[in-house]
Amino acid sequence: MEILKISLSDFLAHVNKKIQAGDSKQVGVVPKGSHFVFGELDEAAQLCLDYDVTILPPKKYFQPQREVLVKYAPKDASSYAMVNDCENLTLIGVHPYDLVAIHLMDRAFSEGERDENYMAKRDCSVLIGLYPTRGFEHRFSASMIDPQMPYKVADLMLIKLDDNQLALEVVSKKGKAYLEGAAVAKSDLSEAFLAQARNKVKDSQAFPLGPDKSPAYFKEKYEHPVWEKLGEKCYSCGSCVFVCPTCYCFDVRDEVELSLASGERVRYWDGCMIESFAICAGDHNFRKERGARFRHRVFRKTVTLPEKYQVMGCVGCGRCAQACTADIAGPMKVIKTMKEMN
Ligand code: SF4
Ligand code: SF4
Repeated sequence: MEILKISLSDFLAHVNKKIQAGDSKQVGVVPKGSHFVFGELDEAAQLCLDYDVTILPPKKYFQPQREVLVKYAPKDASSYAMVNDCENLTLIGVHPYDLVAIHLMDRAFSEGERDENYMAKRDCSVLIGLYPTRGFEHRFSASMIDPQMPYKVADLMLIKLDDNQLALEVVSKKGKAYLEGAAVAKSDLSEAFLAQARNKVKDSQAFPLGPDKSPAYFKEKYEHPVWEKLGEKCYSCGSCVFVCPTCYCFDVRDEVELSLASGERVRYWDGCMIESFAICAGDHNFRKERGARFRHRVFRKTVTLPEKYQVMGCVGCGRCAQACTADIAGPMKVIKTMKEMN
């Protein structure tokens, strides 16, 4: 892998050139109050390369919260037209755990029935990763992700060396193309120095189980009272699944004008923590109890995905722990409560 160096001011100048060229939307992390979000950049000076976590993960660019899939005139069978809106997009400053989550989403949307809407958006994207420079009290990603996995989707990786210097790992042809015309120099930095710079920020907590042990551990706890105990406190608000970078469930609805002149088939984010999620024919809800929904969500991360992909289905971003008003959603909290109850 080619390693380059660039000054922060030259990198921002290059991003500005990309913004002005206008052939690809430049999206980066920007402050929002005391938090951070991914948002479109009007100028590179808005870009923040020193943040703890974003409120929502970058999945919103590949699986939008609301997405029109089909447009039609209900009375005209020949009018049905697939919609697949996508635009060239560069995401700048994606932390490694979010890159791993994108890799998991890519597998979910490409294996079996390929989701053309999601995959088209991914094909139009350039992903520029960034090693974190700031800790986050709820993060435990070092214990959840394989450090090589972010490179499966990243096109470039940024390593902040100090306030003025960045190292650039060129991972793909798209990454190399993104840097054309940038004031980069060959790196003379040793691998030992880079390894230290990548791991400057340490998590304050670690999940005690990997994908090899986690499924058996949790399956054995299927009837554990922790699910009911934590479920009793749950508001079924769905925040934990909406902010989760590895949750991708959706609902599809037909929205038809009263006049029947036109209609749209639209998909929206949905989530297993919401009471109506499991309502099926005959108004039967097959996961009615809050505890059962809570267990299902945790099992998706700790049993189902590890068994399917041999990696954890949680990347340890800590967003659910931050978003949960009841302070129960974080996987670390589940383990802790379970241990306290034993
Ligand atoms: S379960 Fe929570 S900590 Fe894990 S990836 Fe989802 S939001 Fe992040
Ligand atoms: S964020 Fe908390 S309260 Fe809301 S659904 Fe998730 S676990 Fe329940």
